[in-house]
Amino acid sequence: MHKYIYSNHLSGGVFFSDEKIPEEYLFCDQCGDSNQENGEADTFSEAWQLIYAYGGLSLNGAGLPSN
Ligand SMILES: [Zn+2]
Repeated sequence: MHKYIYSNHLSGGVFFSDEKIPEEYLFCDQCGDSNQENGEADTFSEAWQLIYAYGGLSLNGAGLPSN
């Protein structure tokens, strides 16, 4: 596996992508902030380390509205 790990700028939740997300997709037009790329992982262990380091997993992390 190779995963890219990101933080959602709104919820602080962490989400994965199989492919690197271009910067223009990380940028939020609505508030001018961006989702952050936290790193890349080749193993689940590496991925979990990044998730914990950046504040945990959120079901809303993929950019869905919370509430
Ligand atoms: Zn925003």
